[in-house]
Amino acid sequence: MMTLQEAEARDAADPLKSYRALFDLPAELIYLDGNSLAPLPRATPERLQGVVSEEWGKGLVGSWNHAGWWEAPIRIGNKIAPLLGARPGEVVATDTTSANLFKLVMAAAALKPGAILAERDNFPTDAHIASEAARLLGRPFRLVDGADLADALATDVSVAIVTHVNYRTAARADMVKLNAAADRSGVTMIWDLSHSIGAVPLDLPRDGTRLAVGCSYKYLNGGPGAPAWLYVASDLQGDLRTPIAGWWGHAAPFAFEAEYRPADGIARFLSGTQPMLSLLSAEVGIDLMQSVDMVAVWEKSIALFELFADRMAALCPELTLVTPRDPAKRGSHISFQHEGAYGIIQALIERGVVGDYRAPGIARFGLTPLYLGFGDIWRASAILADVVRSEVWKDPRFATSRTVT
Ligand SMILES: *Cc1c(COP(=O)(O)O)cnc(C)c1O
Repeated sequence: MMTLQEAEARDAADPLKSYRALFDLPAELIYLDGNSLAPLPRATPERLQGVVSEEWGKGLVGSWNHAGWWEAPIRIGNKIAPLLGARPGEVVATDTTSANLFKLVMAAAALKPGAILAERDNFPTDAHIASEAARLLGRPFRLVDGADLADALATDVSVAIVTHVNYRTAARADMVKLNAAADRSGVTMIWDLSHSIGAVPLDLPRDGTRLAVGCSYKYLNGGPGAPAWLYVASDLQGDLRTPIAGWWGHAAPFAFEAEYRPADGIARFLSGTQPMLSLLSAEVGIDLMQSVDMVAVWEKSIALFELFADRMAALCPELTLVTPRDPAKRGSHISFQHEGAYGIIQALIERGVVGDYRAPGIARFGLTPLYLGFGDIWRASAILADVVRSEVWKDPRFATSRTVT
């Protein structure tokens, strides 16, 4: 098994090591929660300061024209596109992942009658949005287990919302296989890539994905609550209409026409005035990703995972690994099951290792290669093993439940 010295030698030789300095991370913290909220890029405060005091403060309303505010959703979408293998004009940065799911499920449901389908073990927002869309449309709603998805994509299904990387276990769905099954039955797939973008290499056109949504505050370093994005393959854009037909998605917003005419292209999926401060915060994080080699990121994620999984298996077999070991079958976090998972996470936080708890019984750790090294994983696994084996997590002070876990 790798020694701490060997882990540190790997860090010294790491081709991605220069990225860590681009983040403002507290020195003594091992941050394994970048899959929930990425740390602050060092460039973000200065950019936001300029946006507030210059563009807003001095430029005022003129900044919609002169500071590139109006175009920001499309411009930032075009910077997200390469991370998806998409082309310019196929992605727009806007709204929340939840709102974007609603827009796409309602738009796609109009293409074909039939049921709306979602996964039972998915992040709940996806199923909530799908079930309410079905209710509004008067369509049947089906909640199916991830393992049964391929069979459930039947000819009487209209739209299915499927997540690529599971938020609890990091299990990765087979995008090619599910898209092929959906195509055979005429089902429109909407992929949720919240835990995939910036974490695993993606090539949506190659893999047959035509509709997708995802976050910018996880692996894209956008900032708390920063706007999400949506992707619509260009050949499908003309067939879809958003149910939130606001003026930003109008063909001529400043003609102020009473009648709605959707804009050509991806702009039709915009609704209203975009939150410029958080959108421009997201842009800094997304800019940082422009030079990143996603293949190198993914290779390092695999190596970090193996180090973590091997050390926990050796030091602390009481923890059950619930993430698939096969890299092709997972994303970029690692999860363990344990009855004391909640207290374990709280005890770890007290000792400077930040992960998170996902009910029921899952301790989850994000592996974000841009700012995490082998030495970090080596140390974090030693502390985790000590917390579990010493049973310090049983201390009542770790049992109080907070609102955000
Ligand atoms: C994080 C996450 C979301 C978040 O949706 P918001 O609307 O941004 O709160 C949605 N889906 C999945 C799968 C996620 O992991």
